[in-house]
Amino acid sequence: MKWFDKLRAFTAALLVLAAGAAAGEMDFTQGDWACALRYNDTVDSGDAVFVRLAVTRQGTLSLSAASTIARLSLGSDAGVDFYPVPSGKGTSPGAAYTDFLAGLPVSTRQKAGDLTLTVTILLPGADKKNLTLPVTVRAKEFLSFTLKLDQANTDRMTDNSPARIAQSDRLNRAVSATNPRGVYQQSPFALPTGITRITDRFGTRRVYQYADGKTNTSVHWGTDYGAPKGTPVRSCAAGRVVLAEMRNQTGWSVIVEHLPGLYSLYYHLDSLAVEEGMTVRQSGLLGYSGATGIATGPHLHWEMRLNTQAVNPAFFCGNFAHLEPKNTNQE
Ligand SMILES: [Zn+2]
Repeated sequence: MKWFDKLRAFTAALLVLAAGAAAGEMDFTQGDWACALRYNDTVDSGDAVFVRLAVTRQGTLSLSAASTIARLSLGSDAGVDFYPVPSGKGTSPGAAYTDFLAGLPVSTRQKAGDLTLTVTILLPGADKKNLTLPVTVRAKEFLSFTLKLDQANTDRMTDNSPARIAQSDRLNRAVSATNPRGVYQQSPFALPTGITRITDRFGTRRVYQYADGKTNTSVHWGTDYGAPKGTPVRSCAAGRVVLAEMRNQTGWSVIVEHLPGLYSLYYHLDSLAVEEGMTVRQSGLLGYSGATGIATGPHLHWEMRLNTQAVNPAFFCGNFAHLEPKNTNQE
């Protein structure tokens, strides 16, 4: 292992640790409800903020999966509803859910500084309450590099055919869905391949140089692993396959839903082992790596989308859902 590969592996390990650390905590009561809130009060640009809210009440609990009990917003973001998740402590009679989770992405362009997180409590039988919580953003440097495309890749990149646009619409529809019952895994996610050599990082500013010399700049929204053709590609977490098809630019592609609004995407596969609608366990086989679509060689592109925005996949390898340590192995 060369020294910079060692440094890279060490940095990756630090990133994973950081993703699960630095949780803010707050206990409060609202009406008859006792509430405990945990969130990551420090975040890198390109990561996400997740808030876990545990609520209990004396006597009979009457919460159901359909109840909106709280809403989360960050900065000027429109906000999202909390969704119920298993608490990992077993459920008390009459209360199917006592824990709720919500997460929002932080843009790669977010500058260092403070953001305000707002949690609006809407518990039944209690007054509405707005909690404002501080979040410190650490700005991250993203690299920039030029990628030369041959004629075939240039054609794929500049393809505006109805078929390509329909593929794009299908993908956007898939990752835009927020199904409150789509809760499959809240414990840390795993890497999708045994090959850990990263060939391009999340958030890189890419300048594509076309065959005719023209250029186009875009952001690399996933992490690329230098997996040789035929390497097993495994689901980073339990979930449901919501898209599995050949796409012009990303080749054989799979999208898996893990939590409401949270999806993992796998691109450039050589072949698929799953179909749409199938449920998969964590590390279940999705297919084999390849170089289909726009690729200069075999690799796996792993991407995560939260409420349609790309988030650094490494963030989800930590305890992002703020499970108590003894519960981090639960699904
Ligand atoms: Zn990629």
